[in-house]
Amino acid sequence: MIKNEFTSYKLSKGVIDALTKLKYVTPTEVQKRAIAPALDKKDIVVKSKTGSGKTAAFAIPLIENVVWEENLPQALVLEPTRELAYQVKDEIFNIGRMKRVKVPVVFGGAPFQPQALSLKQKSHVVVGTPGRILDHLRKGTLQLQNIEYLVIDEADIMLDMGFLDDVKEIISYLPEKHTTMLFSATMPEEVDGLINEYMTDPVKILIESETKTEDNITQLGYFVENEDKTDLLLDILYEQAPEYCMIFCGTREMVNVLYRKLRKERIRCGMIHGTVAQEERLRTVDEFRQGKFGILIATDVAARGIDFDTITHVINYDMPFGKETYVHRIGRTGRNGKSGIAISLMNAKEEKLKNTIEEYTGAQITICERKSKEELKLNRRYYLEKQNERRPLKKKKGAVFNKEITKLSIGGGRKSKMRAVDIVGTICSIPNVVAEDIGIIDIRESLTYVEILNGKGKIVLDALQTKPIKAKIRKVRISR
Ligand code: AMP
Repeated sequence: MIKNEFTSYKLSKGVIDALTKLKYVTPTEVQKRAIAPALDKKDIVVKSKTGSGKTAAFAIPLIENVVWEENLPQALVLEPTRELAYQVKDEIFNIGRMKRVKVPVVFGGAPFQPQALSLKQKSHVVVGTPGRILDHLRKGTLQLQNIEYLVIDEADIMLDMGFLDDVKEIISYLPEKHTTMLFSATMPEEVDGLINEYMTDPVKILIESETKTEDNITQLGYFVENEDKTDLLLDILYEQAPEYCMIFCGTREMVNVLYRKLRKERIRCGMIHGTVAQEERLRTVDEFRQGKFGILIATDVAARGIDFDTITHVINYDMPFGKETYVHRIGRTGRNGKSGIAISLMNAKEEKLKNTIEEYTGAQITICERKSKEELKLNRRYYLEKQNERRPLKKKKGAVFNKEITKLSIGGGRKSKMRAVDIVGTICSIPNVVAEDIGIIDIRESLTYVEILNGKGKIVLDALQTKPIKAKIRKVRISR
């Protein structure tokens, strides 16, 4: 068996087991440098981009230091967007799965009350967007007096989005003594200001120079008049037949227009930008990740930080404003040693930007000639035919845990004053079942969900058909 290199840190078995299941056996660069100081509760500042494994770099020490018995949150993670909050919550939840860490997520645009109820239950790590976190603080539905760790993730974009005052106000609710970890892809002045004001002698970790693009990304470009862009884009899709492609636009309106255009051509795609309804955005990200469709059209802000590990093509439908954003965008492909293709659509005025980018990255954008419609006729047919085929779905990362976990639903919840101890007490009285076999307990209005770990779901399900919980035989079923 391969040795899990994470064993060289002071990590408990539950964390190592979860990392092994997730196939995290070698720490990434940022993890190598951040985990040890973070475990020792030193403030850290990390300049690193998406894809570097930065989420696990802070999630591992957080999870390790969580005291399970505590009911109030011990760590607070701030994220700029809802999608990121969700993605980061999943990563923390997965790493904490064997330790049964509870990770509620809160963000705006979703009903307040269910979030307040989930915060009322045992919560170890709270993830959220600043605005909604503040709402909960002001209404007294979130308690931060036991916080040991504050994570400010994607700090530059958080400040770009105008969250500086919210972040400062949130910090004012924290106990004096806490560890702060700040992650940012770039370090503008405002971020520096935050570091100087709120962090004590932080360990500074600079991961890679942002100017370098990976050698395994082929960079292509077309010069095109603005009115021909959509037509060219379609030709590029037919020619390249990308498996997983992200198309970046400069504005929300353009994302909408392009989305409608592709759908009209019967090309399966999804879109995300700031004004797409929140549920829709989360679903789109999830479905793209699973591979239900192969093209995601996005603005920079909506896509920032979201991790997709199999992007084959990045298309700059609109060129980004700056060279750094270009490097960020195209860095979404060519990950994990795979090759990738980045294609930029430029007008004549953008030649200067092309030169600046080439100088900055030290790599060339090869200008291509457009193919004729005749040459692409067959490609088009194949590509459009392929749109009707069902795509193989990828498993979610956390699915590896599900084999040994059974989720049960139990009749009775808050209304009948059901408490976690009632459930734990009964389940632990079943022969061969111990407290460590019980996972997350989620008490709803008139129903309770409980996870049974270590393949013992069937034993518990059978026993609970005749065993009372809180003096009553309950309806217990497997929950899908
Ligand atoms: P992030 O930069 O946090 O968005 O992570 C990028 C991707 O790397 C995510 O899909 C993680 O699940 C994955 N990842 C993080 N750490 C490791 C590791 N040590 N080994 C393999 N994959 C990892």
